[in-house]
Amino acid sequence: MKRTIILKVNSERPEADKIKAAAKIIREGGLVAFPTETVYGLGADALNPEAVRGIYAAKRRPLDNPIIVHISDKRDLYKLAREVPENIDELTRLWPGPLTIILKASEAVPRETTGGLDTVAIRMPNHKVALALIRESGVPIAAPSANLAGRPSPTTAEHVKQDLNGRIDMILDAGPTRIGVESTVVDLTSKPPQILRPGGFPFEDLKRIIKDLRLHPSVTADRKVYIERPPSPGMKHRHYAPKAKLILVEGRMEALADKIQELVDKYSCEGRRVGVLSTDENKHLYRADVVKSLGSRKDPACMAKKLFGLLREFDEEKVDVIIAEGVPMRHLGLAVMNRLRKASGFNIVKV
Ligand code: AMP
Ligand code: MG
Repeated sequence: MKRTIILKVNSERPEADKIKAAAKIIREGGLVAFPTETVYGLGADALNPEAVRGIYAAKRRPLDNPIIVHISDKRDLYKLAREVPENIDELTRLWPGPLTIILKASEAVPRETTGGLDTVAIRMPNHKVALALIRESGVPIAAPSANLAGRPSPTTAEHVKQDLNGRIDMILDAGPTRIGVESTVVDLTSKPPQILRPGGFPFEDLKRIIKDLRLHPSVTADRKVYIERPPSPGMKHRHYAPKAKLILVEGRMEALADKIQELVDKYSCEGRRVGVLSTDENKHLYRADVVKSLGSRKDPACMAKKLFGLLREFDEEKVDVIIAEGVPMRHLGLAVMNRLRKASGFNIVKV
């Protein structure tokens, strides 16, 4: 066990002494959890193989799952990547923001960071604390989500503490994250370019910029798809899951509530404690041990923001089974459904 230092930091005007202390840990090869606009990240010096190995150990992350590199200056892209496309500005002008770009990796990037691939994933986060930390460290920061592998991503410092207290050096606490789901990952090394993970930057908006952009089949898969050589090894690992068994009910809005209540009654009758992950439109319809709402079905940004926190709350309530409503797959709803499907282990009921 390490002692994990937890520091509250002002999200708009990060205190210089706190950022300096965190940056010193990064430079010395340690691990610092920090806020971004998407979720909390677990950071280490991306160019220090041993430091990056520490991330895998702390998270118990499979070694083949590569890690996104966070930068504070667009020019750093050219140190980390080779074969940068000429029109890259069309995408990097969206930085800082919830968009991760995959390019061919330069020699500078250790295999620990790329998970052994010849590509590197890069993003500039839109959060003052994250940017200050990267700048002050003077190195790019490799950071996956700051949770134990397989668990829901952390959207508060408390979530990070639940999973990683005693396993990392420091947590910078700047309050809840604004977006709540991870970044959109776009692979520019494939032709046509493809989204490997839907996230905080909506597909619809990105498609307007990259005309031939497509979604990798795994993004919208509603069953386990066998991918021989996944371009993003993270795709094949179980993800985002609460401790409770999660069943996702998808289909016509009119039929959702009846089917969900039927499942609640079935599991309750077996003596299980059952939770429903609902939306505002339907939440009054359910009789279950715990009912929680993601917000209005018309507000995908709100649903994204609340998703991971609510999954953890069900665990705190010690429910055995969560029955979740499917939501529309537009805007951030695509990311929400992708996470719910994976959290269910593709245990999906269609109505
Ligand atoms: P997380 O660790 O939760 O932030 O997830 C990072 C995601 O980015 C994982 O799904 C990785 O597989 C993906 N990723 C990171 N680097 C690469 C890369 N070089 N190529 C493909 N996917 C990547
Ligand atoms: Mg993660």
